[in-house]
Amino acid sequence: MSNKGRSGCGGFALGFLLGPIGLVIALVVQADHRAMEKSELEDGKMRKCPHCAEVIKAEAKKCRYCGSDVPPLA
Ligand SMILES: [Zn+2]
Repeated sequence: MSNKGRSGCGGFALGFLLGPIGLVIALVVQADHRAMEKSELEDGKMRKCPHCAEVIKAEAKKCRYCGSDVPPLA
């Protein structure tokens, strides 16, 4: 069966279509988003939901991702 190998190459095919620049942009955007998220966590503006681990606002009383009540900040 040759179909099995083909589906695994989908990401590579897309990379070739977009070209190396597309891949670089995707990586930079991802890295930038992560860096921003990290600095906001360190600033205390954001924190992680204890239920779903998504990043939410520090003042939030309810998680916007999973809808759980989160304890107010001390
Ligand atoms: Zn949550």
